[in-house]
Amino acid sequence: MKYSRMLLRWPASFLFGSLYTCNIKVTLRCNLRCGFCGLWRRGGSREMYLQNYITAADKLKKMGAARIVLTGGEPLLRTDIVEITAAFARRGFSTTLLTNGTLADRERLLALKRAGLNDIGISLDSCDPETQDDICGRKGVWEKAVSTIRESVDIFHPGIVEVLTTVTSRNLTAIPDIVEFVVRDLKAWAVINPVNIPSPGHSILSAGSPDLTFPLPPRQVDRVFDTLRTMKRSGYRILVSNRFLEESRSYLKSGRYRWKCHAGERYLTVFPNGSISPCSDTPAIANILELSPGDFRKKAFRDQARKIRDACDGCIFSCWREASYLFTKPSVILERIRQFLPGTGGKRLYHEER
Ligand code: SF4
Ligand code: SF4
Repeated sequence: MKYSRMLLRWPASFLFGSLYTCNIKVTLRCNLRCGFCGLWRRGGSREMYLQNYITAADKLKKMGAARIVLTGGEPLLRTDIVEITAAFARRGFSTTLLTNGTLADRERLLALKRAGLNDIGISLDSCDPETQDDICGRKGVWEKAVSTIRESVDIFHPGIVEVLTTVTSRNLTAIPDIVEFVVRDLKAWAVINPVNIPSPGHSILSAGSPDLTFPLPPRQVDRVFDTLRTMKRSGYRILVSNRFLEESRSYLKSGRYRWKCHAGERYLTVFPNGSISPCSDTPAIANILELSPGDFRKKAFRDQARKIRDACDGCIFSCWREASYLFTKPSVILERIRQFLPGTGGKRLYHEER
């Protein structure tokens, strides 16, 4: 039942390019200071109230969206995150929450589950507590994040618990060990995403990462990605497609990406103040509180989104790429079906080990 809207809306989005996924940034504030992230350097912004989210949920439903990803900044800094989640879940959306895992205890996770949250994603960039804390600029992050992952696997099963790892020069060679830890020990799904290095002046999310070394040594990148492909073939729950793994490999070696995205059509981002952008890294073109569902379908809105896409140099965000491939790349669609069919691929491993 909880994924039924996603399944029912998929054909319309596949055939007509209609809206499917919406990322909702409930805040830009964050309690961590990750070196590769530009968000905390930007500071906060005005944030919508709960009542505004109820209005937004009604509108997004009329606009056809099926899947809502609640994110930030750190979404658990919002004291009303449980109520915001409920506003979307009650309207039939499939809901996922992405968090750094440091502000969640069992009670809060249970409240989110009761509010209707289906899936949760938690960041983890190292198996080594000191390295993790250094990457995040705060002490105690590793212990807290790992404890939140363990609690989440217990609470959200059979929902998906993703562990999100950003690949940088700091952790490249440790990536297979992180996947091993995530899948075998924590019993979660591994999501591997290269750090996005934006073109100057382009990025909202990733700006200000002067400490990053990029591109990375090609031989090391190849060794790591060959290992990941082998692990995935043998049933490790790696929740990015083979296509995305190969694109990540090529991007990490060259620093170049080529991609035609669907931002502003099949997916959108809503910022904390209600402004709508084609994706998390592009300028606003409307505000959810002022936009009518009819306006969204009009040519003028789509033309504005297209102009922004055409001017964009590209990105390597797995969320947008995978969302796009689920409508355009038959190999990725088949791979995903295989992963989630009982008795096959990663799903089998998951059930056997629980
Ligand atoms: S990457 Fe996430 S957890 Fe780290 S500072 Fe940015 S928003 Fe916060
Ligand atoms: S390629 Fe598309 S999804 Fe990526 S930053 Fe540009 S507009 Fe956004």
